[in-house]
Amino acid sequence: MKPSTQRIDEATGRYLPIIYPEELPHWEGLRARRLVLQRCNACHGTWFPIGPTCPHCLSPEFAWAQMSGRGVIHNYVVFHKAWTPWLEKRVPYAVIQVELDEGPRLTTNLLDCPVGEVGIGLRVVAAYEDITDGITLLQFKPDTEASGKRHV
Ligand SMILES: [Zn+2]
Repeated sequence: MKPSTQRIDEATGRYLPIIYPEELPHWEGLRARRLVLQRCNACHGTWFPIGPTCPHCLSPEFAWAQMSGRGVIHNYVVFHKAWTPWLEKRVPYAVIQVELDEGPRLTTNLLDCPVGEVGIGLRVVAAYEDITDGITLLQFKPDTEASGKRHV
C-alpha cells in the first residue's frame, strides 16, 4: 500500500481519506480486516488519531497492536441532508463516536442499523468497507453478540 493524496474517487464521487506514510500500518490492517492502532511501549496506552508520541506519557516508543474491534457508542448525530451528491443515497445516516474497549475514541459511521435504533451506549463491532481497490474504511455495526446490553 502507498500513501495517497487523492481526494475524490472519480468512479463514485465519494470523498477519500488522505493516507500519510506514518499511517500505513493502520490502513494495511483495515485492508486485512484488522483494527490496528499504536500501543505505547512505556505505559501500554493506546490512542487515536495516529500520532508520533503517546498522549498519555509522551513516550515516542510504540508498536502497532491489534485492537478487539469492539466498543460502545459514546456520542452520535444523524445527518438528514446530503452534503455531497454521493451521500444522496445514504441519508439519513448516523455519524458515531465509538469508544473502543481499549479506550481510544474515534469518529466513524454506523452501518446495518436503522437510524431510529442508534443510541448512546449501544455496543458496536468494527466493520470494514472497501471503497476503492486500495482503500478500506473502518466502519461499525451493532454488536449482535452483545445485543440488549447497554453500557452507559
Ligand atoms: Zn505512554
